[in-house]
Amino acid sequence: MPKYVYEFSEGNKDLKELLGGKGANLAEMTNLGLPVPPGFTITTEACRHYLEHGEVPDGLAGEVAERLAALEAAMGKRLGQADDPLLVSVRSGAAFSMPGMMETVLNIGLNDASVEGLAAQSGDARFAWDSYRRLIQMFGRTVQGIDGELFEDAIEAAKRDKGVTSDVGLDADDLRKLVEVFKGIVAERTGRAFPDDPREQMDLAVRAVFSSWNAPRAVLYRRQERIPADLGTAVNVCAMVFGNLGMDSGTGVAFTRDPASGRQGVYGDYLQNAQGEDVVAGIRNTVPLGDLERIDKRSYDELMSIMERLENHYRDLCDIEFTIERGRLWMLQTRVGKRTAAAAFRIADQLVDQGVITLDEAVARVTGDQLAQLMFPRFDEGAERTRLGRGMNASPGAAVGRAVFDSYTAIKWSRSGEDVILCRRETNPDDLEGMIAAQGILTSRGGKTSHAAVVARGMGKTCVCGAEEIDVDTKNRRLTAPDGTTVEEGDVISIDGTTGEVFLGAVPVVASPVVRYFEGEIDPASDQADDLVRAVHRIMHYVDAARRLYVRANADNAEDAARARRMGAQGIGLCRTEHMFLGDRRQLVERLILADTEEEQEEALDTLLPLQQDDFVELLAAMDGLPVTVRLLDPPLHEFLPDITELSVRVAVAEARGEKHENDLRLLQAVHRLHEQNPMLGLRGVRLGLVVPGLFTMQVRAIARAAAERLRAGGRPRPEVMIPLVGTVQELEIIRDASLRVLAEVGEEYGVELDFPVGTMIELPRAALTAGQIAEHAEFFSFGTNDLTQTVWGFSRDDVEASFFSAYLEKGVFGVSPFESLDVDGVGRLIRIAVEEGRRARPGIKLGICGEHGGDPVSVHFFHAAGLDYVSCSPFRVPVARLEAGRAAARR
Ligand code: PEP
Ligand code: MG
Repeated sequence: MPKYVYEFSEGNKDLKELLGGKGANLAEMTNLGLPVPPGFTITTEACRHYLEHGEVPDGLAGEVAERLAALEAAMGKRLGQADDPLLVSVRSGAAFSMPGMMETVLNIGLNDASVEGLAAQSGDARFAWDSYRRLIQMFGRTVQGIDGELFEDAIEAAKRDKGVTSDVGLDADDLRKLVEVFKGIVAERTGRAFPDDPREQMDLAVRAVFSSWNAPRAVLYRRQERIPADLGTAVNVCAMVFGNLGMDSGTGVAFTRDPASGRQGVYGDYLQNAQGEDVVAGIRNTVPLGDLERIDKRSYDELMSIMERLENHYRDLCDIEFTIERGRLWMLQTRVGKRTAAAAFRIADQLVDQGVITLDEAVARVTGDQLAQLMFPRFDEGAERTRLGRGMNASPGAAVGRAVFDSYTAIKWSRSGEDVILCRRETNPDDLEGMIAAQGILTSRGGKTSHAAVVARGMGKTCVCGAEEIDVDTKNRRLTAPDGTTVEEGDVISIDGTTGEVFLGAVPVVASPVVRYFEGEIDPASDQADDLVRAVHRIMHYVDAARRLYVRANADNAEDAARARRMGAQGIGLCRTEHMFLGDRRQLVERLILADTEEEQEEALDTLLPLQQDDFVELLAAMDGLPVTVRLLDPPLHEFLPDITELSVRVAVAEARGEKHENDLRLLQAVHRLHEQNPMLGLRGVRLGLVVPGLFTMQVRAIARAAAERLRAGGRPRPEVMIPLVGTVQELEIIRDASLRVLAEVGEEYGVELDFPVGTMIELPRAALTAGQIAEHAEFFSFGTNDLTQTVWGFSRDDVEASFFSAYLEKGVFGVSPFESLDVDGVGRLIRIAVEEGRRARPGIKLGICGEHGGDPVSVHFFHAAGLDYVSCSPFRVPVARLEAGRAAARR
């Protein structure tokens, strides 16, 4: 029979799956000889059994009785003993941290008799009756499912009767009466009296904690955080210690290092005469942990020495919860602590310096998401600022602009050159254009998966959401801060998407020093570099040597290419040539589409050719010596034509005036002819190359000539020709043959050999499934995971994120958008098939990815594991991809 109950001394920190994080760390501290109140942990296995069968496993009751007897012996008193009761806490604790999602019951063991014993032993009747009312309240809510408001209302009524405003104003007698009221609530709601048998209280509390694993909020949290649903929670039963026994008692939290800066020192808060809940509730102000030295030097010194031991033992920053009961220090919890992005890099670097961890370990402790956070511009910390309030940090960055309260104004003002911040209660799909026009978005409602948050993150736009303390009044076009400050439409505000803060006026924005380092503006060896830059440099240097994946950038012009190169890109993985046909050149494409005769068509192509050639010369120069993958034109042609409604109106107006504009009429016909219901699934990619004569060969000729020019100039051009949206090998064959002919022609023309790879994107399911055939005619594959995600899920990539993804995220259908982080099970499976079949057909075929997922940390690990050769992402994400590629390789 499995063992279901472990005394703290029987476990250790590596048994998280069985004992939960809290239980495993309590065990570890116990074994280090630290002052942990004695107790035991009921395993997650017992919880799983309970959830599956609706009853606790056989033998659990006996094991609990045995451990409880040992606990009673250690404490020299029995659970609920009338004259001197042992009280216990019953706390949840799963393998993964699920803050606040599951239940806890304190003060188990109190009843009408033992409350008197507690009063006598503590010499504090108020304390005893307060503990008793807390038990009934927590037990009633958690175990018996009674609406917590009923208890809160009763407390409010008691305070009103007494004429006091705070709980502290209620004395022992008041609390004794409150206990009677609470018991009445329980009897009325459950039809039976509050259970006064201590062991029954304990058993019921344990079951309630087990059940809380499946509480709706916990289920939702797990879905979103991708925590498996079948792990169950452990339950920790621990002797109560009290921080609320007078001014020589108290409770606090401590960190072995500053979780914001990483510096070693005394960080934390302390609250005299209080229990943990009081700290969280913020009823009274805490004091800095350093003050404990003055309040209780002996406990302070002991805590400091324990903190040092814990940090050396865990070899990382630890956070700690502790209680002091009448001058005696007790450790209630520890774990490797959360930290800011900057602290993560600094701490990893410091611990390497101290010889505590290796560089391999340091690399495992920092993430690409943290690096990305360090790269956003930020508000100047030294600048004066007036804080209006705070919400959730939904999408990082620092944005300054005039407050506007609807989408229309956002668009109008931004068109006239104003920076605006769109302020809404919440956003919906109608706000999309306004969000695009705004510098940042502020909402007063909705969480991190609200529409505003999801869409802003997707656009990389700064967003603070759910700032409930700020009243956004869209009707009167103003917002009001909690202190009464109002911001009218047009007033300037600043929002910090990294911290969630909102400021009045324009706070100066500074470039991140980490970006300046990547840009080559800060030499990591100079005095200009602070400890953060030095830490980032050391880790990047290490991961670059460790990684197997190459990192390229998606860039369409020389400027972006040069920037990407400074950021460490090893080539261009995707040059989207459509971006070269915008602005003035749109007209030229229009001419090509409208051409009636072959001559007209050729004329249009002849005009485009030298322009394209110049583009490529510049691009190849910026990436000299490195590969540059140029993709032939991909989007539907109608994107190069005027908007159908605008044009119709123009034609109608002209007609009404009796005028006739020949060109507009032809244009309108073409727009109608090319109009598609589903352009993303229509005439685009390789299909264009097959139906618009001369278009792709013109592009290939421009690439070939540019390369020849670069060779003449002594450069080392390495272009690669990429054909998009191939679904079948026949499409590829036709375009590839034509391309190779052009390369040969231009080679002859210039007297040089132009032997460049011609390959394809794999971005349709059919291409992935027939990758073996396709590889026969492709020298490389580049996975277009944007289109592949779109077509595998049947999700229109331009529409769904703004329309229903927030609902999907809220319902937990997925924890993160599959356009943001690769859907490994679906899209990933197709990639694996294509990798395997492609390599089998053409060993040595070069394999890369150029969809947005190329810069997503989790996805990079998948691409490493799937055996790709490179990832390609936007220039700004290149350092993130380098770091994650290195972390993937270092994680052996
Ligand atoms: C893709 O589909 O993943 C891709 C890179 O191409 P685009 O986003 O330009 O369609
Ligand atoms: Mg694509």
